[in-house]
Amino acid sequence: MAYPHTHKLTFPLEKYRVNSYRFRQDCAYGNVHWGIHLGEDINRSAGTKVRCIGRGRVVYSALHAGTKDKGNWGNIVIIVHKHPKTKTIFFSLYAHLQKRLVKKGQSIDLGQVIGTVGKTNSPENGWWEDEHLHFAIYVGHWEKKVLPGYWKKGSKKTKLTYWKEPTRFINNYKT
Ligand SMILES: [Zn+2]
Repeated sequence: MAYPHTHKLTFPLEKYRVNSYRFRQDCAYGNVHWGIHLGEDINRSAGTKVRCIGRGRVVYSALHAGTKDKGNWGNIVIIVHKHPKTKTIFFSLYAHLQKRLVKKGQSIDLGQVIGTVGKTNSPENGWWEDEHLHFAIYVGHWEKKVLPGYWKKGSKKTKLTYWKEPTRFINNYKT
């Protein structure tokens, strides 16, 4: 399958700056230890537009609401991209969205609005207390399933090395 090349990358939010959980931060909420955070969290008010970081195609778009006792992704979108020279395939992941404005299989332009930030304590944001975007970059093998947000020692769900620090990845992207 041909994946869309992207010659450039931009950030998914205006004035993007990590102001909540960082990449690879060890996370515990209440008594639950979730593990190592695989993305970056940016607190923004509900309804803020979330944009695709590059040209790509939607490979996953679904609601994983979770419960009040155990949060989840809420609305999540995963988009595949390809580096035009190195041919590296990578994925951008956007979660806790109020709305998903794109469908699986859809081609997406750089900067296209793909959703909005979800409202606190709602199924759409996966029952989290803060309104935020979870944004991640994945460069591993994809099995057409939703990807995790955390990594725990001994877990076979994913490998830590498959995940890149999003800010650095976008800033260092050259073609
Ligand atoms: Zn997060």
